Amino acid sequence: MSETTAAQYDWDLFVIGAGSGGVRAARTAAATGARVAVAEDRYLGGTCVNVGCVPKKLYSYAAHFHDAFEDAGGFGWQLAEAPRFDWATLRDNKVGEIKRLNGIYGRLLEGAGVRLINGRARVIDAHTVEVAGERHSASKILVAVGGWPFVPEFPGSELALTSNEVFDLAHFPERFLVLGGGYIAVEFASIFNGLGSDTHLIYRGELFLRGFDQQVREFTRDQMAAKGVNLHFETNVERIERVEAGLAVTLTSGEVLEVDAVLAATGRRPHLEGLGLDALGIELTESGHLRVNERFESSLPSILALGDVTGGPELTPVALAEAMHLVAHHFSETPTAPLDYRNIATAVFCHPNIGTVGLSEEQARAQCGAIRVYATEFRPMKHTLSGSQERCLMKLIVDDASDVVVGAHMVGEEAGEVIQGIAIAVRAGLTKADFDATVGIHPTGAEEFVTLRTPTRR
Ligand code: NDP
Repeated sequence: MSETTAAQYDWDLFVIGAGSGGVRAARTAAATGARVAVAEDRYLGGTCVNVGCVPKKLYSYAAHFHDAFEDAGGFGWQLAEAPRFDWATLRDNKVGEIKRLNGIYGRLLEGAGVRLINGRARVIDAHTVEVAGERHSASKILVAVGGWPFVPEFPGSELALTSNEVFDLAHFPERFLVLGGGYIAVEFASIFNGLGSDTHLIYRGELFLRGFDQQVREFTRDQMAAKGVNLHFETNVERIERVEAGLAVTLTSGEVLEVDAVLAATGRRPHLEGLGLDALGIELTESGHLRVNERFESSLPSILALGDVTGGPELTPVALAEAMHLVAHHFSETPTAPLDYRNIATAVFCHPNIGTVGLSEEQARAQCGAIRVYATEFRPMKHTLSGSQERCLMKLIVDDASDVVVGAHMVGEEAGEVIQGIAIAVRAGLTKADFDATVGIHPTGAEEFVTLRTPTRR
C-alpha cells in the first residue's frame, strides 16, 4: 500500500459482511499489513456457520442415527428400548456449538488486528461507507454480504419457513413439507425424515437436483423414496392455510397435505437491500448478482465483491478461495493467476450423500464427444448384515480420446469424504489408466473407483 493511500483513507480495505469470504479476505489482507475493518449486522461466520453448512451437517449426523439404530440389530446389538429423539437437545446443543464458533471468528479477526464494527453498512460513494452512524473512508470496499432465502409469492407463503428459521423451531414438526428440488430441499427432506417426521418434498420439475448427473438424480430419488420421503414431482404449492391441527398445503395437482411446518427451499438471492449500490449505478448480472471481473472488481473498481453475492457457485470453499485470490490480486506484489472454477467438487448431504466432481454424463457427451462411462450400483458390505436395503452408486466418466477422467460421482455413505480425494485426481487431469494403476484399499466402498474395468456404456 502506498504512503499516499495510507494517508488518504481511514482504511485500506473495508469489508461489508463477516461471512466465510469476508472474514477470510479481512484476515488475509490484514496479514499483508493492510489496515482492515469489517462491518457485520447479524452474526459472525455468515450463513455457513449460523444457518447453513455447519448446523445442517450437525443435524444430518443426528438424522443418520435413525439408520444406525436400525442397522445395529444385525450386528448383535439389542437396544433396551426404542430410541427416542429429543429435538430440544439437538437444537440447544447446536446453539452452543455455533456460539463457540462465533467466538472463534471474533477472536480470529481480533488476533489479525481487524476492527469489527456492528451494524449494516451503506456504501455512500466509491471510497466511503457509513455504518452505525459513522462514516469511514477506504481505499477499497469489499461487498461480501452473501445471499438471502427467496420465497415465491403464493397465498399463505408467509407461513413457510426458510433455512434461516428451520434450525431453531420451538417444537419438532411431526409432519414436515419441503418445497424445492435443490441442495437445501433434498438435505432437509432427508434430515427431517431421518429425525422421524412424516416428510414430503414438493418439486415443480420432473426430477429434483437439476444440473446433476441424471443417473445420480434417479438413484437418489429411489434411495430417498426407499427411506420413506414422500416425493411429489411435477407439482407446486398453490396455497398454505392455517388449520386447527397445523397447516393445510394445497398443491397445484389438487392434493391437500396437512403438515406442521413448511420449508421453502426455493433458492437464494443476493442480499443487496439497503446497501446503496443501486444509487452508485454498479452493474448487476441478469440474475441480479454483482458483476465482477477476475480481480473481483465491480464496475466501480474500488468496490470489490466475492462469494454468493456475485452469483458463482454458492459454496463456502469457493468464497474462501475467492478471498485468497482477491487479496493476492490487490494486496500483494506478486501477480496471481485467476481462480480456476473448473472441477470444483461438491457434496449434497441428503441421505445417502451425493459427492460429485467434474462433468455429468450428459455434460461430457455434449463437451467431449466420445466418452466411456463406468458405473456400478451395489449393496455396501455393511448392509449384508444390517438388513438395510440402502445401495451405493459410483460412476466415472472418461473422455475416450484422451483417457482423462472428466467426472466422478457417488451416491452413498460419506460420498463427500470419498469424492474429496478423487477430486484431486480429476483436477490434476489423471487418466483412467492412472485410476486403474492405483491399488485399492480393501475392504472399502471407495476401492470401486480404482477397480472399474469394463465400460458400462459409451
Ligand atoms: P437451489 O438453487 O439449489 O434450488 C432451488 C430450488 O427451488 C430448485 O429446485 C428450483 O427449481 C426451486 N424453485 C425456484 N423457484 C421456485 C418457485 N417459484 N416455485 C417452486 N420452486 C422453485 O437453491 P437452494 O435454496 O437449495 O440452495 C441455495 C444454494 O446454496 C445452492 O444452490 C448451493 O449452491 C448452496 N448450498 C450448498 C450446500 C452444499 O454444499 N451441500 C447445501 C445447501 C445449499 P428449478 O430447479 O426448477 O429451478
